[in-house]
Amino acid sequence: MGKKTVIGIDVGGTHMRSALVDSRCTILQRRRTTTEQSLGTAHVSHKLVLECRALVQEAAEMGASVAAVGLGVAGKIDAARGTVVFSPNLPAMRNFPLARELETGLGLPVTIENDANVFGLGESRAGAGRGIRNWIGITLGTGVGGCLILDGRLWQGDGLGFVGEIGHMIVWPGGSRCACGASGCLEAYASGRALVEGIRDAEARGELPEGDLHRLHTRGELTPEDVYRHALAGDALACSVFRTMGRALGLALTNLCTVLGLRNAVIGGGVSGSWDQFIEHLKESLAENARMFDPDEMVITRSLLGDDAALIGAAQTALGLEKV
Ligand SMILES: [Zn+2]
Repeated sequence: MGKKTVIGIDVGGTHMRSALVDSRCTILQRRRTTTEQSLGTAHVSHKLVLECRALVQEAAEMGASVAAVGLGVAGKIDAARGTVVFSPNLPAMRNFPLARELETGLGLPVTIENDANVFGLGESRAGAGRGIRNWIGITLGTGVGGCLILDGRLWQGDGLGFVGEIGHMIVWPGGSRCACGASGCLEAYASGRALVEGIRDAEARGELPEGDLHRLHTRGELTPEDVYRHALAGDALACSVFRTMGRALGLALTNLCTVLGLRNAVIGGGVSGSWDQFIEHLKESLAENARMFDPDEMVITRSLLGDDAALIGAAQTALGLEKV
């Protein structure tokens, strides 16, 4: 048999993206389809099996074989058991043995890992974290995820099904409500959802002037991209929402770096595309709050791999390469 490959899959709430990846982290083929999670857990499992079978077929056509499958899923994941404990993207999947289901359907070994952790593995192997022994990863998407690469390995904690949940660090006690039920979490200020809610809160205070943002908000059509577009154009309210985001991120990083004694952080996820609107505020916050370290020594970089980090990282778990 020819070249050995693995499949990496990023299972999102609306789309599942999958890729055939070789041992050098090169993506050979990719696929994308809708998750259709509203049709139930069995349907999502079946779709995953179909996507994998299609990639196995494509591998065979290249003279390659597929050794294993790795999945990245948002939420609390019991990686040792291959179980989705719960996922905000797949609310019907509670304590669901997804790895076993797929192994039965495919006849291949299957691993599952938290989506921010696979981001960390991907960036470590082939992206912005390559060659860096210790770093903090933050993913800015609908929510805020995080991971820790310590001493060259993905930090797994005590195997409790969560680790590096940077989005749920409280940066403002009694502050804005987070999706997790707590108040003042980083995610309540630095996620795509928080950008939209920042505008909504301004409207509730009577501080959203008439105009395009007001119209989009009233129609229920406002997206994080709209807020970014308005900030770029100099809209004061949109800029203030990004200022809050940057300052919250800076505070979270100050605390993490003070505790861990680290100097490197990599920020990824779709909302990190608005980098130019929050990075200066993040640095301001570091400069104001850091006492144990010189904020100028901190190296904060953007993800190099973008969406591919999750695919490549999930493939690393399939290869059993959590050590990076
Ligand atoms: Zn929270």
